[in-house]
Amino acid sequence: MKQHDLIIIGGGLTGLCLQYLLSKESIDAIILEARGRLGGRILTSRKPNCAPIELGATWFGDKHKNVLKLLEELDIQKFPQELSDRAIYEPISTSPHQLVSLPPNQSPSFRIKDGTDSLIQQLTAKIDQENIYLNQQVKSIRLQNGIFTVACDEKPFSAKIVVSTLPPFLLHKTVKIEPQLPGHFQQIMQQTHTWMGESIKFGLNFDKAFWRNENLSGTLFSNVGPIPEMYDHSNFEDNSHALKGFLNGSYFSLSKEDRSKLIINQLKKYYGAAIENYVQYQELVWRNEAYTFVEYESSMLPHQNNGHELYQDAYLNEQFIIAGSECSSEFPGYMEGAISSAHIAFEKIKNSTLLVN
Ligand SMILES: Cc1cc2nc3c(=O)[nH]c(=O)nc-3n(C[C@H](O)[C@H](O)[C@H](O)COP(=O)(O)OP(=O)(O)OC[C@H]3O[C@@H](n4cnc5c(N)ncnc54)[C@H](O)[C@@H]3O)c2cc1C
Repeated sequence: MKQHDLIIIGGGLTGLCLQYLLSKESIDAIILEARGRLGGRILTSRKPNCAPIELGATWFGDKHKNVLKLLEELDIQKFPQELSDRAIYEPISTSPHQLVSLPPNQSPSFRIKDGTDSLIQQLTAKIDQENIYLNQQVKSIRLQNGIFTVACDEKPFSAKIVVSTLPPFLLHKTVKIEPQLPGHFQQIMQQTHTWMGESIKFGLNFDKAFWRNENLSGTLFSNVGPIPEMYDHSNFEDNSHALKGFLNGSYFSLSKEDRSKLIINQLKKYYGAAIENYVQYQELVWRNEAYTFVEYESSMLPHQNNGHELYQDAYLNEQFIIAGSECSSEFPGYMEGAISSAHIAFEKIKNSTLLVN
C-alpha cells in the first residue's frame, strides 16, 4: 500500500480548494470522494437548451472575500442576481398576495456566470487527476504507530495526516475513528447542524420570462407556502429563462410528482396558466443525499455549533484535522466558510513537523 503524506476525505469545495493549495506547494495529497462526482453541496444541473439550475450553492456577496479572490484567481466571472424592483408577497393565507416594491439593493447577491460548478471544474483542472479517487466512501480511519489507515469498500489507503471535510455530524455518524476522539468533542460534532441539509430546491425552465411584465415578478416571498421564496434564475446571457426556489423541507417524503403539483398549484395563483408551460421541472431533496445528510437524534437549530472553537484544533497527535464549511469561524455553512476552512487547514499542514522527512 502506497503511503501518502496526506489524505483529504471529501471532494467538495473545501477538499478541492485544499488540494489546490497543497498542489501549489507540491505537497503529496489525495482526495477520497464517496460520490461518483465532485462538488458535494455544489451541483449545477444542465439540460439541453435550458438555463442551468443551481440545485445547491448559488449566491455570494461582496463580504465573501475568499470567494471573490478565488473566482478572480481562477478567472471565473460573476453576475448580479436579477431581483427586479418588485416582488410578489403573500403574508397570510386569508388575504390575497400583493405586488410590493423592493428598495434599491445596497448589497447585491451574485451568481457565477457559467454556473457554480464552474468553480469545481476550474479547481479540478488545476489538480493532478491521479490524486482524485471517486466512489470511495471512507468507512473508518485508524491511527496506529503514527500512520493512518483509511478504509473504503475496496482497498485501504494510508497517510501521515488525514483531513476530513465532511459535515461534522455526518463524520461522527458514518465514519469509525480509532482511537476515539475526545468525548466532549464528539458531543459537539453530534450537535452540529449541516447547513442546508434539510432543504429542497426546485427549478422550472421556460421559453419566455413571462413574469417580467409590469404586473408580475420572478421574485416571490410567501409566508403561506409551500414555496417560501423564489427568484428569476435565467442564465447570464439572459436568453434562457428559469425560476428557482425553495420548497418547505417538510415535503421531503412526498413523491416528485406530488411535490411538483404542489409547486405548480401555488405558482398558478400568481401567474395563472402560463406557469404550466414549463419545459423542465427539476428538484433536489438534500435530505435524501446520504453523503450530505443523516437524520439527527434530537432537534437541531440552523447553524448550531457551526464554527465552534473545538473545530479550530487538530486531534490525534495533531495528525487529524477536521475541516469543512461548518468548521469555519467565518461564514460557516457557506461557500465562504468552505474556502476559509481550506485555508486554515492548509496553514495547519504547512506548519506541521510531520511532513519533514
Ligand atoms: C440547497 C443548498 C443551497 C445552498 N446555497 C448556498 C448559497 O447560496 N451560498 C453559499 O455560499 N452556500 C450555499 N450552500 C452551502 C454550500 O453549498 C456549502 O457551504 C459548501 O458547498 C460546503 O462545501 P464543503 O466541501 O465544506 O462540504 P460538502 O460540499 O458537503 O463536501 C463534503 C464532501 O464529502 C463527501 N463525502 C461524504 N461522506 C463521505 C465519505 N464517507 N467518504 C468520502 N467522501 C464523503 C461528499 O460527497 C462531499 O463531496 C448551499 C447548500 C445547499 C445544499
